[in-house]
Amino acid sequence: DYGLSEADPEVRAIIDKEKDRQFKSLELIASENFTSRAVMEAVGSCLTNKYSEGLPGRRYYGGNEYIDELEILCQDRALEAFHLDGKKWGVNVQPLSGSPANFEVYTAILKPHDRIMGLDLPHGGHLSHGFMTPKRRVSGTSVYFESMPYRLDESTGLVDYDMLEKTANLFRPKLIIAGASAYPRDFNYPRMRKIADTVGAFLMMDMAHISGLIAASVVANPFDYCDVVTTTTHKSLRGPRGGMIFFKKDPVLGIDLESAINNAVFPGLQGGPHNHTIGGLAVCLKLAQSPKFKIYQNQVVSNCGALVGQLIEHGYKLVSGGSDNHLVLVDLRPLGIDGARVEKILDMASITLNKNSVPGDKSALVPGGIRIGSPAMTTRGLQEGEFILIADLIHEGVQITLEAKNLVSGSKLQDFMQFVSSPDFPLINQVSALRKKVE
Ligand code: PLP
Repeated sequence: DYGLSEADPEVRAIIDKEKDRQFKSLELIASENFTSRAVMEAVGSCLTNKYSEGLPGRRYYGGNEYIDELEILCQDRALEAFHLDGKKWGVNVQPLSGSPANFEVYTAILKPHDRIMGLDLPHGGHLSHGFMTPKRRVSGTSVYFESMPYRLDESTGLVDYDMLEKTANLFRPKLIIAGASAYPRDFNYPRMRKIADTVGAFLMMDMAHISGLIAASVVANPFDYCDVVTTTTHKSLRGPRGGMIFFKKDPVLGIDLESAINNAVFPGLQGGPHNHTIGGLAVCLKLAQSPKFKIYQNQVVSNCGALVGQLIEHGYKLVSGGSDNHLVLVDLRPLGIDGARVEKILDMASITLNKNSVPGDKSALVPGGIRIGSPAMTTRGLQEGEFILIADLIHEGVQITLEAKNLVSGSKLQDFMQFVSSPDFPLINQVSALRKKVE
């Protein structure tokens, strides 16, 4: 049996290049993080070899003595990490990731074509919350359920709860979804609970982006108000790629959530759980209960605040004017530039972030904003002073992008991409100088 270098030097080389990229670049994608060596050890272990369809004590395969022990440990730690009473809340740790976890909840508590309301994707919501366009039902959620998104108030950049209430009263959804992929503020859970109760809907929170912040109690706690809470495990929580579903143990609207959700995960939508991921998750959930983790999450928010302050200093317009959490959304439209072009130039300078739509945008491919997150670089040990510097570096990249845009002959995004990628791109020295500063 060979190690990777001998068995497959080609894959080894690709992994080494990716490791080098991760090490050298400023990783500012809000949904990414660097997990710990302990988590990676568990994920790369023999746990990947085992089949264990079913739940602990009720498996469809033999040899699951230790896998049962592991999954129960993981469940217990999940409840502890989020300060939950095991008599009132249960958890399923088998979802393969965030999108499957959400779809599992929908199929557990809804019938095909029941109505749902989640935050619209161009306003910060996630695809799996029911995204569709006037022409196409993009997400599977909108194919199998009837989706009517709620939106932000474009003048404030905050969720328009009044409109959500009005629409919910007319649309009568069976499920209202809180949570987002690009929303820099907390959700108003008490208000959403009230709206859900008025129309007889379930309230679910998808806390994927902020689960680490919630575990460390640095943002509001959705468990006090929601019936179901889903999450990915690889973002601010700093675990392996995976998902979890938390559910109330008492029946809600006549449904026993525990059996409905467990059955939706398996056999409804999944087969054997990824036990190596569950092993990594158990490790992550132990670390998430340490005092160090709380310090880390406070630093994530504080670093994001420093970034916000310096971006405002540079004159940028931010959606909602700032941030309460780990991410900031910059509206680049007042500068006459878009997120796609800025993402490209910053990428060339080893600053990794993503283009993002901002309220009022026309195109998702050439959106008007960028999303910047603080979790990954906080894991790397950066503090407020360095995040101020990051804002300066991003500003430099935006200036180069503006200059480059003025030099391109065509107006299409493709023209710009070709121009900046060509060997004689006239601003390449400026980009290289920026990359040197980053690295
Ligand atoms: N929910 C939210 C709020 C997300 O931001 C994401 C991913 O970015 C997901 C769910 C989906 O997670 P995954 O990509 O693991 O399916």
